[in-house]
Amino acid sequence: MLSYRHSFHAGNHADVLKHTVQSLIIESLKEKDKPFLYLDTHAGAGRYQLSSEHAERTGEYLEGIARIWQRDDLPAELEAYIGAVTHFNRSGQLRYYPGSPLIARQLLREQDSLQLTELHPSDFPLLRGEFQKDSRARVERADGYQQLKAKLPPPSRRGLILIDPPYEIKSDYQAVVQGISEGYKRFATGTYALWYPVVLRAQIKRLLKDLEATGIRRILQIELAVRPDSDQRGMTASGMIVINPPWKLEQQMTTVLPWLHKALVPSGTGHTTLNWVVPE
Ligand code: SAM
Repeated sequence: MLSYRHSFHAGNHADVLKHTVQSLIIESLKEKDKPFLYLDTHAGAGRYQLSSEHAERTGEYLEGIARIWQRDDLPAELEAYIGAVTHFNRSGQLRYYPGSPLIARQLLREQDSLQLTELHPSDFPLLRGEFQKDSRARVERADGYQQLKAKLPPPSRRGLILIDPPYEIKSDYQAVVQGISEGYKRFATGTYALWYPVVLRAQIKRLLKDLEATGIRRILQIELAVRPDSDQRGMTASGMIVINPPWKLEQQMTTVLPWLHKALVPSGTGHTTLNWVVPE
């Protein structure tokens, strides 16, 4: 079942949080010259046109990236992310939103590499087209979870693994934990960043318990809620679970999370969370 299309949601509050965390991790990895791998298991189409029928129908980006990209009081921690968004909107009008693979493409260096997988029959060719001329990238129509076994550890022994499934099938909640433990067995020093939506809080409590039960340590949870928890109103919050976060990430998020919350949710509803699920 592949009915999810990210084009309906591109640039929403969840993307803003996800891509902020993604860009901060990439910038930290770049502090050493040694190359690293960026592995994106559920890569999507790459580029999203915000004037498309899909994006216009939901208008989600209007309450996400549109609220922040031209602010003149951006925290320094958002510069890399917003710089990547601006690169695709040089006219000064917000027309395109870069998904995670294009943000990585902008931020990675010559010596780094990208491994991207996407299964959707319409989104895969779009993604492949974006990377045709990029010799650093390998784009495959393949199952993202399998990559956690097949592509790890990277030869450079450094890397960020972004796991961003649509959760349209309930088994995704178990598959991510299984996938992470498979990856971690092969590559325990990698940074793993898992995105999650809060639709039913009980599902996330369970997910965190299952992750704890793997025995993996250094698990940081970063969450931004735009509404109070509710089991009747769709996604009220989203979060990132980061295993082996760069040492600066927690500190960076103490500045960025409250700023994002205030900028994205002017009414002040919802909450932010920054919490070690499992410490050192
Ligand atoms: N990571 C992207 C970004 O931030 O721009 C968005 C990805 S979207 C949330 C999830 C994507 O996963 C969808 O495009 C969907 O087609 C794809 N997908 C679903 N199941 C998959 C699987 N088992 N392996 C790889 N891709 C999958």
